[in-house]
Amino acid sequence: MKRIAVLTSGGDAPGMNAAIRAVVRKAISEGIEVYGINHGYAGMVAGDIFPLTAGSVSDLVGRGGTFLYSARFPEFAQLEGQLAGIEQLKKHGIEGVVVIGGDGSYHGAMRLTEHGFPAVGLPGTIDNDIVGTDYTIGFDTAVSTVVDAIDKIRDTSSSHHRTFIVEVMGRNAGDIALWSAIAAGADDVCIPEREFKFENVVNNIKKGYEKGKNHHIIVLAEGVMSGQEFAMKLKAAGDDSDLRVAVLGHIQRGGSPTVRDRVIASRMGARAVELLRDGIGGVAVGIQKEVLVESPILGKAEDNALFSLGADGEIIVNNPHKADLELYLLNRDMNNLNLY
Ligand code: ATP
Repeated sequence: MKRIAVLTSGGDAPGMNAAIRAVVRKAISEGIEVYGINHGYAGMVAGDIFPLTAGSVSDLVGRGGTFLYSARFPEFAQLEGQLAGIEQLKKHGIEGVVVIGGDGSYHGAMRLTEHGFPAVGLPGTIDNDIVGTDYTIGFDTAVSTVVDAIDKIRDTSSSHHRTFIVEVMGRNAGDIALWSAIAAGADDVCIPEREFKFENVVNNIKKGYEKGKNHHIIVLAEGVMSGQEFAMKLKAAGDDSDLRVAVLGHIQRGGSPTVRDRVIASRMGARAVELLRDGIGGVAVGIQKEVLVESPILGKAEDNALFSLGADGEIIVNNPHKADLELYLLNRDMNNLNLY
């Protein structure tokens, strides 16, 4: 392959720039020309495609966001959109594409591969909800941001004996909520993957204050419901504590990537180029047990979920790496954190 392109798509995530940089530098070292595509698939279709040099990506490794911009472009799910994109790739002499994004972006990459343009996916999303990898690029930074925020919230919460509901990102995956709840020493965590009862949360809050605690922190993944709705339902279920809601919002997407995100992004970016160099597309790069791996780009979502509930309500552990985390969470005596 003589010329490849790189794009970022879907929600942005810290570390995407580090991944682009690695793609560019690795490609150049392999004698492959590399082009950038602005605004994801929208830019591909619009022909917003331009050559990148080693210098184009200097000073980027530690910068949040994505300098290639990201976009949502539903038209790419249609054949006409894909063919229009391919027309542009052909026009620019591009033979393969690195797609950095989430699950939706991976679908686009698969379609390109099927049309004869090998595409390799890199998991760029803060949600940690991508098949075939223990960690996504951006997750570590997002969790660190959340933990930093909860630490601050706890200071004010303790000064006033307040209960705080901290709403964090995660529409379908509770990973950000779980990890930050553990790391910040929260009292309760509610995630989309698990059912819970408000009365249990109310009881836990009461017990905490009776024991002499001076604050109570509940971490809530947005996929469960909004913080405001949760607060109303908690009150309706009998909570009489001084209750506040903090919605962390988009600060979770921004900021300079952590060391971990920079390193996995760099490693994955280089691997993506090696795959394209060898003519391989339709795969996603991931990291499992600290080793880089490739897997089919459209794996089954449930394979990567932390756990799911079986027909009889039993917990099914889907990802052995993440299972350790679950065992930790279920050991309540040790960590004093309630996962319902
Ligand atoms: P995040 O996890 O941050 O939401 P994502 O990649 O899953 O990221 P989406 O908005 O689902 O974000 O998808 C990004 C883009 O990928 C879409 O706007 C569209 O251009 C393309 N895409 C999504 N689904 C498909 C599909 N089925 N076929 C082709 N392209 C798709």
